[in-house]
This record gives sequence, C-alpha cells and structure tokens, in this order.
Amino acid sequence: MSISEELFERACRVIPGGVNSPVRAFRRLERAPFFVAKAAGAHLTDEDGKQYIDYVGTWGPAILGHAPECVISAVQAAVPQGLGYGIPTRIEVDMAETVCRWIPSIEKVRMTNSGTEATMSAVRLARGYTGRKYIIKFAGCYHGHVDSLLVAAGSGALTHGEPDSAGVPAEFANLTIVLPYNDCEAVRRAFAQHPGEIAGIIVEPFPGNAGFYLPRPGYLEFLREITAQHGALLIFDEVMTGFRISAAGVQGKTGIVPDITTLGKIIGGGLPVGAFGGRREIMDCVSPLGPVYQAGTLSGNPVAMAAGLAQLNYLEQNDSYTRLEQLGARLEEGVCRVLRDEQLPLTFIRDGSMFCLHFTTQPVYDLDTAMSGNFDMFRRYFHAMLEQGVYVAPSPYETGFISTAHTEADIDATVEAMQRALRHTCPKV
Ligand SMILES: *Cc1c(COP(=O)(O)O)cnc(C)c1O
Repeated sequence: MSISEELFERACRVIPGGVNSPVRAFRRLERAPFFVAKAAGAHLTDEDGKQYIDYVGTWGPAILGHAPECVISAVQAAVPQGLGYGIPTRIEVDMAETVCRWIPSIEKVRMTNSGTEATMSAVRLARGYTGRKYIIKFAGCYHGHVDSLLVAAGSGALTHGEPDSAGVPAEFANLTIVLPYNDCEAVRRAFAQHPGEIAGIIVEPFPGNAGFYLPRPGYLEFLREITAQHGALLIFDEVMTGFRISAAGVQGKTGIVPDITTLGKIIGGGLPVGAFGGRREIMDCVSPLGPVYQAGTLSGNPVAMAAGLAQLNYLEQNDSYTRLEQLGARLEEGVCRVLRDEQLPLTFIRDGSMFCLHFTTQPVYDLDTAMSGNFDMFRRYFHAMLEQGVYVAPSPYETGFISTAHTEADIDATVEAMQRALRHTCPKV
C-alpha cells in the first residue's frame, strides 16, 4: 500500500470522505487521492515521492505556481509583526486601493475569508440595495456553498451527481431562479414573470465550474442591458476569473461593467481570502455605513493580505498576462494537433491560462452540453495522465489552470503525455 493510500485510510476514519472539500476525494475515479508533501513552481511532489506537473493550481489561486518567492518572503516579513489583531491595518488599505485601481467597476471593496463568503454577501447586498427577493443564477455556475446558490451548481456537486444539496429548504431555493447559460430568451421570460421582484443576476462571466466554456457574442452585453432596464443588479462572480483572464478579469477583457464583483482565489496568494466590491452607492449599504450586515473576525488578516498583495504586485510588474497567453496558446496548439493526429474531434476550449478538454464532439456552451461528455473516456485519460506524472483536475467538470511557473518544456511534455493517454485510452470517434 502506498503512503497516500495509508493516509487516506486514516483520513476516512476521522474526516467525512477523507477530505476537507469534496472534489479532492477522486470518488468517481476509483482510486485514492494522492497526498501532497510539498510543491514548488509548476510541480507537486506526493507523499510517495512521485512528481507531477500540476494543472489544478490549488483550483485557481496558484497563478505564479506554488510557493513563489515573492509571496513566501512577504509572508515571512509579515508573520513576526503578529498574525492578526482585529483592528485596521495599513495593508488592508493598500489591498483595497490595489483592487479598486485594477478593477475600475469597484469603487469600494470589502474583504472576506473565502469566495463563498463573498458571493453570500454580494447576494445579500443586491437584495438589501434593491429591496427585492429573487436572484437569477445559471445552471452549472458555482458560486460557493451558499444555501440559496447551491441550486444546479457545478463543480464538486456536479461530479458527485448531486446538483442540489440536502439541508437547503425548498423555501430558500425558491427565491433562486435557475436558467440555462447563454439563453437570452429565458432571462427575458424570467423578468416578465417577476416584474419588480428580481434583485439581480449572479453569473460566472466565463463559466469554469462545469468544465470551461464561453459566453456567445453579445450575451454578457445582453445581461448588462436587461438588468439595467429592470433596476436589477448584475453581479459578476469573478472568484475564478478575476486577476486570471486579465488583470481586471472578464470585465477587463470584455468591457462589460457589472454593479458588484466577487473575488477570491488569486487575491489571497494561496491564503484564505475573498472580496466583494462595486459602485460606491451600492457598497455604502454595507454595515457600518448601511443596513446590510456583513462581518468577519479574520477578514483582512494581515498575513493573508501580505500574501495576496505580493502576488498581485508581481503579476502587474512582470507582464504576466502576456506570458500566460503565450503558454496557453502553445498548449492549445499542441492539443489541437494531437486531436487531429488521433482523429478525436473532442472539444477543447481555452482563454488565456484557463482551459478544458471536453470529452464530447459537440460545441459546449452551457451545462447540458458540458454534461454530454463521455465520463469513462475521461476517467481512462485522467489515470493515464497521472501515471505519466501530469495532474489534471480529477473531474471533467473543472477548468485547467496554467501558471507563470510552467515552462515551454512542461507544456510540450504535457502535450506528449496527452497524445499517449488519448491514443491508448480513447476509442476513435
Ligand atoms: C471557487 C469559487 C467560489 C467559492 O470560493 P471558495 O473560496 O471555495 O469559497 C465561488 N465562485 C466561483 C466562480 C468559484 O470558482
């Protein structure tokens, strides 16, 4: 038995499913997860000493790779000053100014400890600001494990075949209107059916939690217009895409300006941080200025702020988005060549450093088409990749992430591994 398997046995006795977040359990993959001992750059080393090129990147935060020098030294400098005080600190102001400067739609921002807290607070704020009760979300979009948003959610809930959670009363979920992504007519109908009652739309502008796919041309513009027309707020959940698709996330790339933005993952530099922000008059509804209550004992923690700010500063000062695009384009070129060579016309979608190989030959643009993939084919591919030392997400409904620590050699080795994996495990289609 490997050390990882032994650890997993111990874990399963004292932790539900042996993990602290469900996707880590590899349940549908019929093997124990590997346990990581350490990581540096683009590489993970497990407890048994096996090395992997990593495309999960902590599920998004590790945009500079693992343990980047700039983040480690910022944390080391912050720690001796104290681990947190629950009193304002200078670095919280530096962080807020940085976020507002990078993302112009954010005039004021509040820190949280996770993406889930950010989306929960953003939805409360949208309801408090508008005085309305309904929220529109899209099937397959994941906004953390907030009760009212855990309806037709993607990511782990999808992988385990339980799109909805027990413990969420129908009365909560009833205030969430779930619609298919990329379908304008469905949104028009919802606004017609609930006049003056829809507080806002929350959307992953580039969805990355049911695999990765993109909005059709004009779709995000449409969401912007219809919300403005009806006095509802547009919430961009950029927990995954913020500081990733561009310095200012999807809104920076597309020019669509949301009312509220939620952030997480990259903003913490690997430590637990989330944030929500938006127009001044909306954010001024948050306590202590306004009536929408929101708080957090550890929010704005100085060590976490130091890690996040160091990561953001590094990204800005090193032309990182050009580099990520180069690496992404190289991977895309390689994957498309392999798919042609192997006569496997599978759907590959990439934007910048986010990518997904869908095990379907159909175009993917919403949850249903993302679910049309062949899971058995994915499972064989995943095992063949892991065997060759390449760690892709342990689910077909997740996004791959490239970091600035990946090298051309890593990308080329990955493409070669992919060719062998697909050749030996996938029937011609
Ligand atoms: C990861 C994620 C969340 C939840 O963030 P946590 O830090 O895991 O709570 C919310 N929204 C999106 C789009 C995410 O990808």
